[in-house]
Amino acid sequence: MAKDASIERKKLKDAKRIVIKIGTSSLVYENGSANLRRIGVLVRVICDLVNREKEVVLVTSGAIGIGKSVLNLEKRPSTVEEKQAVAAVGQSVLMHIYNQLFSEYGHTAAQLLLTRDVTEDPASKVHVEHTFEKLLSMGIVPIVNENDSVAVEEIKFGDNDNLSYVVAGLVKAELLIILTDTDGYYDKNPSKPGAELYHNITDLSEEIERAAGASESGKGTGGMLTKVHACRLAADEGINAVICNGEDPEVIFKVIDGDEVGTMFVKKT
Ligand code: GLU
Repeated sequence: MAKDASIERKKLKDAKRIVIKIGTSSLVYENGSANLRRIGVLVRVICDLVNREKEVVLVTSGAIGIGKSVLNLEKRPSTVEEKQAVAAVGQSVLMHIYNQLFSEYGHTAAQLLLTRDVTEDPASKVHVEHTFEKLLSMGIVPIVNENDSVAVEEIKFGDNDNLSYVVAGLVKAELLIILTDTDGYYDKNPSKPGAELYHNITDLSEEIERAAGASESGKGTGGMLTKVHACRLAADEGINAVICNGEDPEVIFKVIDGDEVGTMFVKKT
């Protein structure tokens, strides 16, 4: 049985451990350069949450997007080797940006690059869980991405929506927030007239899940389908999940205040 949506919304203020996921389309401008203004707001919001004694894990895309911009590439790389090389460049630039911003507010970030085999192998999974625990207990913000430079098909999460759900499970988060470039999950393509936002989903049928259209932004991987899927899995495992618009990352405060923003996937009991 899913819990009552309005009651669960109000309880989000008590969520101590929160996983926030931001995608490439929210991190880079149309021209491919880093949106430093938005990343700056995101980091300030996270630091404020840590000041309130919340424990926050950031799952961030952008390694390939930022790498592409740094290397002045016209197109997103397509071959495995190209993607891995561009991600290797972009990931360190991305972390440099995050580290600088976190240190401005007196906070420390740490990088964790994961592949699926690590989280599926019982022994290494336990090590990763311990690493997260230790970092969070030290007030450090773990910043997670897929290890794109080594990941091949067999060990890939494939998209960071899936990764964010896996991380939420690893750290036993109470809340997963997925920031994207629309206000949440609509019953049809939001650019079509009459599209309506789902505010709360207590029981996601396969039919509604399948209706989630693919992303049209072309800047990252995944789309609404992977977000909805990740949120459904989280809700099934007892983690409340919200998809909302990352245009202004201060929306995270609204989610935590229990405002009706975005689409909330209400956890199952
Ligand atoms: N890990 C990829 C990157 O950092 C992104 C994957 C995704 O957007 O889902 O570029």
